[in-house]
Amino acid sequence: MASTEVIKNYIDGSWQDSSSGGRIEVDDPSNGEVIAVVAEAGPEEVQLAVAAAHRVFRDRVLIDMHPYDRGRMLFRIADALDARVEEIATINCVETGKAMDLAYGEVQTAIRYLRYYGGLADKLEGRSIPRGANLVDYTLRSPFGVSAQIVPWNGPLELTARSLACAIATGNSVVVKSPELAPLSGIEMARACETAGVPAGAVNVLTGYGQTVGQALIEHPDVRHIVFTGSAATGRTVLKAASERIVPCIMELGGKSAAVVYSDADLDSVVEAVRIGSFLNAGQNCNNLSRLLVERSIAGELLQRIKACVDGFSVGPGRDNCHITPMISQKQRQGVERACQTAISQGAKVVTGGTALAERSGYFMPATVFADVERQSNLFKKEVFGPVLAVTTFDDPAMAVDLANDTDQGLAAGVFTRNIDRALWTADRLWAGQVYVNGWYVGGVETPFGGVKQSGYGREKGQEALDGYVQTRNVGITISAPRDSFGQSGAV
Ligand code: NAD
Repeated sequence: MASTEVIKNYIDGSWQDSSSGGRIEVDDPSNGEVIAVVAEAGPEEVQLAVAAAHRVFRDRVLIDMHPYDRGRMLFRIADALDARVEEIATINCVETGKAMDLAYGEVQTAIRYLRYYGGLADKLEGRSIPRGANLVDYTLRSPFGVSAQIVPWNGPLELTARSLACAIATGNSVVVKSPELAPLSGIEMARACETAGVPAGAVNVLTGYGQTVGQALIEHPDVRHIVFTGSAATGRTVLKAASERIVPCIMELGGKSAAVVYSDADLDSVVEAVRIGSFLNAGQNCNNLSRLLVERSIAGELLQRIKACVDGFSVGPGRDNCHITPMISQKQRQGVERACQTAISQGAKVVTGGTALAERSGYFMPATVFADVERQSNLFKKEVFGPVLAVTTFDDPAMAVDLANDTDQGLAAGVFTRNIDRALWTADRLWAGQVYVNGWYVGGVETPFGGVKQSGYGREKGQEALDGYVQTRNVGITISAPRDSFGQSGAV
């Protein structure tokens, strides 16, 4: 994939170099080799992109389009991705380091978001409010204007698709800030928009660093809506900037998601949940399964089974579809290693893993499992964002729920039991935006997703997501001639 061509930013329907001449090298996390060079956008490019998106809004280009046609435009973007699905999956796999099957799934999910919200574009309706004979009253569900969408590197295509699709379906125009560590998938989304004939300026894609492009974007006076997906730390910075101009935000932040495993659980399904939930994409998923709370009587057996599964993992590049693929960067891996060292010093017991696979050239960290993780451990409360599972035991359901909820985050949670009453009791009390029963990643494009507590607010996915992209406006009409002034209407 390596090429000397500098990949440009997509602004106002054309490909533009950065005025500063800055460049970002994109590397393959499995070996550290540079695979592409991208023009580094700066504040000047933010000005151009926001001006273009604002013009589209001011001129009512998307608002006045029939919603059915906005939907068809999203279908065409989906078709453009679909036509190159293998190629785009390869790009996504190489830039993020994730397994090829996962990257393929990411492109498919992006396509589904575009088709799902394309289908909903003409189904978002207001209300007519009865107010007596002399008034007509109705609501409009109006777009905000320019929606700034800031995307992290762990799902750069599907996370771009899910916000962009909602925004376009509802008539907003979009400026995407792609992640500097994995910008190529966002570029592919821009190419698909170009192929689909999206009006110039309706979708703009910039690649640059958070502190420059991201910050300039969230501070821009014409940005009227922000979708931020990323860490809670950056989320706080975004909210501070947004508060200056009272800009509404959708905040999709990190998690510390726990699964409660009761003694009657099907342990095969728990091990499978760990396999996918804790370790796919090197554990770099916001709703990954990072804590397992296990009823004491089965903890020994379950840990043995998990260790056997994990020790059988293949380790290698995503293109070989290995189970343990590299982390996104050396910095990210070092952070995970430090978290493991701290956990050990706090008394957590290593079951497997814990130190980086330094003999490899890429940023590999083995699947790591810790037992005896206590409440005061860093692994219990802080997101690690790597392939690290913390196991803690409990004695009764109340203790399990208390342990699960004892974090500042609440993105996902799970419960494993064959007892439906206990499953429902627990699911009701696990304080998280999405709860899985007897599985992990049970949600889909159609199911609302988002955090409680410091995992964020607003919802993405599902029909509920559209609520975050419109604001209700109300129109009241006075009828000058009262409706009863024309006499009796006769039969009804
Ligand atoms: P991050 O917060 O470091 O960066 C996210 C994005 O914000 C990047 O594009 C970055 O360039 C940008 N950014 C950084 N500083 C900025 C600033 N001052 N102003 C504006 N933008 C700025 O997060 P990350 O390391 O890229 O991603 C991992 C995090 O994202 C994890 O915490 C993970 O849980 C979370 N995440 C959440 C979801 C979700 O849907 N809830 C999905 C994926 C990832």
